[in-house]
Amino acid sequence: MSGALYDVIVVGAGPGGAAAAGFLAGRGIDVLVLDKSDFPREKVCGDGLTPQAIAWMDRLGVAEEVLAETRGCIKTCDLYINGRRALSAGFPPPGRYPDFAVLLDRRRFDHILLRNAVRKGAKFRPGWVVRGLELAEGAVSVFARSGGKSEQFRGKIVIGADGVSSAVSRAIGNRLKSGVMAVSVRGYFTGVKCEGAPIKVYFDRSYFPGYGWLFVDETGFANVGLGYAIDPAFALPEAPRLTFRRFLGRELAEVLRGAEPCGAISGGSSAFFRPERIFDARVMLVGDAANQSDPLNGGGIHKAMESGCYAARAAEAALEAGDFSAESLALYQSLWENESGQDWQTAELFLTIAKNPALRDFCLLMLERIGRLTNEDASFRAFAAGVFSGVLAQRLAVSPAAVLRAFPKNVEAWRAVLRRREGEPGLARMAASSLAGAGRAALGAPLANLGWASEVASKALRLAEREVAMLAASGRA
Ligand SMILES: Cc1cc2nc3c(=O)[nH]c(=O)nc-3n(C[C@H](O)[C@H](O)[C@H](O)COP(=O)(O)OP(=O)(O)OC[C@H]3O[C@@H](n4cnc5c(N)ncnc54)[C@H](O)[C@@H]3O)c2cc1C
Repeated sequence: MSGALYDVIVVGAGPGGAAAAGFLAGRGIDVLVLDKSDFPREKVCGDGLTPQAIAWMDRLGVAEEVLAETRGCIKTCDLYINGRRALSAGFPPPGRYPDFAVLLDRRRFDHILLRNAVRKGAKFRPGWVVRGLELAEGAVSVFARSGGKSEQFRGKIVIGADGVSSAVSRAIGNRLKSGVMAVSVRGYFTGVKCEGAPIKVYFDRSYFPGYGWLFVDETGFANVGLGYAIDPAFALPEAPRLTFRRFLGRELAEVLRGAEPCGAISGGSSAFFRPERIFDARVMLVGDAANQSDPLNGGGIHKAMESGCYAARAAEAALEAGDFSAESLALYQSLWENESGQDWQTAELFLTIAKNPALRDFCLLMLERIGRLTNEDASFRAFAAGVFSGVLAQRLAVSPAAVLRAFPKNVEAWRAVLRRREGEPGLARMAASSLAGAGRAALGAPLANLGWASEVASKALRLAEREVAMLAASGRA
């Protein structure tokens, strides 16, 4: 057993853990960070650092260091639906967040965050695989193994930032099995010459809900991948790597002509559902361990940094009060809920609706028409792009007042939505036929669809309850 009693032990040195450790060490708190890997290490990711991530880097004091490693600011994105370019959009003008994103591989990005925490005073022990926790008198014991060696580390508080298959989450009683699964496959290419925006996002029925992406920097180095949600209740039509190969050969055929693959194609599937609890006595979960990534676009780096900051604040308050009970650490959940809870719940409701394969064609049809509408109206385009990227609060998508304000008021824009393209039936007929197809598909799998319908209803109800509570609270204020 290690003799030291640390104020906080952070398990996992990804963006969530390194941000929490950086904030804590910056406040003079004694922090130990454990990770099963040594750094720099690989992490399968799109490597996209959103405007929100840049704002969090700034708060941590590493924005300059990160930006110095990147090649060019990304301000626009091309979006394709079923093989056709549906729109090109940018981030909303700078305000709370900058109006650009950047790309940096996770080997370098995560290492910068970790070095920042260490510079501020955090201690880092690589190569330790955490197996479990135990509450002991005045501390929590963290059981870890490295090589053939076992050790117990003792801390007053543990922050579990150990990703999707979090050992800390399991230790506080969460099950990591049921719920939505996320499938992701990613590869790198060099020598990519692409026209238009440096971020391209592709929606298609074979990987929906989710999307394919191509992110390319100024040197022609590109990260390409597919990420989509599946529900184990519905059969997966084909192996993800097959879908990925078709994506490369079809959607990306033109843009990858003459480019060279580099490195292995990596990825797999992982559980993607909200654990029942994200804190307990002496323990908090952040980032992917708490499933806090954005359900609409999958972005989780900034969310992990954000929750790392809230967990650090709750830990500091608990240390000051000398109270490490679940009641004391509930502050963490309330910070997260106040800032991001409603957005996450809204985005998750959309994901739950869209994950039913019977509704795929209808959802894509609606997305395509929203794309047409955004092409006709710049302020609606900014609204839709802002909500999808999470730069604007996603709860606005279910606020009747905000949607009404954002919807185009000019008749021409609406005509463009209804206009038929050559060989295309009218919108009403397309919508009716895709809904009829959805009905037939639903009848083919009644049990799965009943389960899905009750999940949608319960999530919609919870969101509505929350909206009502917020309205009541704002009425009282
Ligand atoms: C294919 C793909 C593409 C993505 N693209 C993007 C993108 O472009 N932009 C974006 O914002 N987000 C993206 N994400 C999401 C993003 O990668 C995650 O949300 C983010 O990494 C979460 O950070 P984290 O610190 O919570 O966890 P992680 O980054 O997963 O870090 C967890 C750390 O814990 C360590 N660990 C795990 N288990 C143990 C253990 N038992 N003991 C000790 N250490 C342990 C790991 O070694 C790791 O270092 C993508 C995800 C995938 C799968």
